[in-house]
Amino acid sequence: MGFHVRGVVLPDGVTRDLWILDGRITFERPRGEVLTLAEGGFVLPGLVDVHTHPGATGGADEPPGFDAGLFAEQIAAHRDAGTAALRFPGLAGEVPAEVRDAPGAPRMITAGRWLAWAGLSRSAAFHTVTDELAAMAVKEALAHDGWCKIMGDWDFEAPPVPYEVMRAVVEAVHAVGGRVAAHCQSAEGVLQAARAGIDSIEHGMGMPEECLGLMAANGAAFVPTLTAFAGSRPRMAGRGTARAALWLSGHDTMIRRVREAYDAGVTVLAGTDSAPFGNVATEVEHLIAAGLPAETAVGAASWTARAFLGLPGLAEGGLADLTVYDADPRREPGVLRHPRRVVVRGHVVR
Ligand SMILES: [Zn+2]
Repeated sequence: MGFHVRGVVLPDGVTRDLWILDGRITFERPRGEVLTLAEGGFVLPGLVDVHTHPGATGGADEPPGFDAGLFAEQIAAHRDAGTAALRFPGLAGEVPAEVRDAPGAPRMITAGRWLAWAGLSRSAAFHTVTDELAAMAVKEALAHDGWCKIMGDWDFEAPPVPYEVMRAVVEAVHAVGGRVAAHCQSAEGVLQAARAGIDSIEHGMGMPEECLGLMAANGAAFVPTLTAFAGSRPRMAGRGTARAALWLSGHDTMIRRVREAYDAGVTVLAGTDSAPFGNVATEVEHLIAAGLPAETAVGAASWTARAFLGLPGLAEGGLADLTVYDADPRREPGVLRHPRRVVVRGHVVR
């Protein structure tokens, strides 16, 4: 059976009728019987969290684990919140086929493991350490959904992966049609990543201002994961050490760069990097607090992120992911927590 939705379709802001048929969107009324899911309200092409690690067990200093049951639970939390697409920049295990293929499962883009260059001063238990970073990055991108994840740095007081190494990764991965996400949490790490043409810079603590022009020119995305850092801030602020002070100033810079990135034409995207799962609405609020216009912040967790990931939005023949809200999320972003309707891959979740 087909479904019918009428409402203000974002980002255009035009009231339209749309139908869902065989997992696709159409603006032409189909012949058969249809069930109306919503009349009135605001329609989004679903939410997106571009930085989440469901199923992960263990911490920075414990052995990494991947729990398939936990993964399924956390994916369900994303789905129920209306998150129709997810990117995993680092996953210790493989996405179980039965979860990926389940009716109404969000679209999943995994980048494989966290690859760390062997020349870094330190690494964490969850890193896959290698001195063949470019070759491994290609392998991960090809084995997964076209993305790989590298640690651009780790200890924010030590030198990052050198430019030549990062550039070699980017060239090798781009040559096979893949893209590279890089964890960066030092000024020097972000700068080398931006110079090397990394496709998405995760966190970006201490980002030097000159990165913005480089990222805009390369079409790189900035994924600040403000939710995760806001969670760590009180603990860091209480420490009073020189290292904590460096962390805090890196955090302040990263927040300031969100609005500057927007002004420079850099794509800013919403990623939570933390529990609870299905909480990208909080990241949208952090992005707005950092100075992003509300409409841009909502797009960062929806249509802009979909376009960046190569997923069509609410267009003729587009993928049948949508959420319906009673209020305009561009005016009331908090409404993103309360979808009236959720359709993922043509499956009515709510
Ligand atoms: Zn992460």
